[in-house]
Amino acid sequence: MAKNIKSIHAREVLDSRGNPTIATRVTLSNGLSAEAMVPSGASTGVHEALELRDNNPKRYNGKGVQKAVNNVNSKISKLVQGKDVLKHRQLDELMLQLDGTTNKSKLGANAILSVSLAATQVGAMATNKPLYKHIRNIYNLRYSAYTMPFPMMNIVNGGQHADNPMEFQEFMIVPQAKKFAQRIQQGAEVFHTLKKYFHNQGFSTGVGDEGGFAPDLKKNEDALKSIKIAVGKAGYVFGKDVKIALDPASSEFYNAETDRYTVDGKQITANKLNQLYLSWAKKYFIMSIEDGLAEDDWDNWRIHTGLLGKQMLIVGDDLFVTNAERLQAGINQDVGNAILIKLNQIGTLSETIDTIRLAQKNKYKVIVSHRSGETEDTIIADLCVAVNAEHIKTGSLSRSDRVSKYNRLLAIAEEVE
Ligand code: PGA
Ligand code: ZN
Repeated sequence: MAKNIKSIHAREVLDSRGNPTIATRVTLSNGLSAEAMVPSGASTGVHEALELRDNNPKRYNGKGVQKAVNNVNSKISKLVQGKDVLKHRQLDELMLQLDGTTNKSKLGANAILSVSLAATQVGAMATNKPLYKHIRNIYNLRYSAYTMPFPMMNIVNGGQHADNPMEFQEFMIVPQAKKFAQRIQQGAEVFHTLKKYFHNQGFSTGVGDEGGFAPDLKKNEDALKSIKIAVGKAGYVFGKDVKIALDPASSEFYNAETDRYTVDGKQITANKLNQLYLSWAKKYFIMSIEDGLAEDDWDNWRIHTGLLGKQMLIVGDDLFVTNAERLQAGINQDVGNAILIKLNQIGTLSETIDTIRLAQKNKYKVIVSHRSGETEDTIIADLCVAVNAEHIKTGSLSRSDRVSKYNRLLAIAEEVE
């Protein structure tokens, strides 16, 4: 009885951009209780599960989530009361059945995920285990040890996350030190050196949605040049101590009518864009490109993977949307060699774990990721370690919505490294 759900309660809270999101508390019959919050994207893939919003222009510019909150407090609450919180797969399955749609449009992926994650949190408390161990236990995941991720730190923001001219959304550094805490130190030192450099060059040092700088650089390549300089000035060897990862998030600057990508203000083909990536690969030690092409440009994705996939990670975010079926299509067609994992793209922890397992069985690398609209919830840090993901993407070295995940990982590193 003790591990059974007594009650659940959801409410509207704010995300890091000041937009409403859902927080849900799950309480067990033994009195233990935990809460989870759900993040929200800006460059959302069209194939993601549905984030249910009220669309009532009188509240929060239509972004309220009262419908999702009500779904938790009425329908889902009734459904899960009395259920064993440790039988997590069954809990998720019940919610999927109640929703009954392929994209969770009835209850909302945000509503369902908030319950799925809060149940995981309180389950960890009930078994007296750290969350990363608990996740392994409930899914019977058998890895030989725990490994700490190499963070991809988004220190220059463009695209949908900033008001500057750069079309590319994320320029990330990937520190290479042996120990996790040293990687954090390397990242923070480069971040502060880059701030000084931008300041001295007369650029703004205000930060974008993910805590990276958002200067008015004219060309996308200027961000790479600036980072290269900052890495050197911080006392590190570019390419050895610090490598680069890119997330152009190119669905956002792809025009399906003309079949062209807008880069540095010019319309170019997928072929030209591939050539640009190739020319940057060695020069800037690029070890990963995410969403280098648009989310439904499958034929060009295959070419893109063939051209670049031997020397770097080719990561599907909007392309795969944490969806096992879309990932399987990628595997079948030799598209990509890595997947971005975002819990709210699919909407339950169980489906997320299934997608990760499918990726790992097929030798695709795994990158657990935040969203640009985040909260203080740090479950992605634990998820990352639970599945031995190679990387985590959780923004820059500023803003508590980003740093909280690094801080949680620093605590986990003390236990497992
Ligand atoms: P989003 O962006 O959270 O705004 O969708 C993050 C990403 O594209 O990786
Ligand atoms: Zn992305």
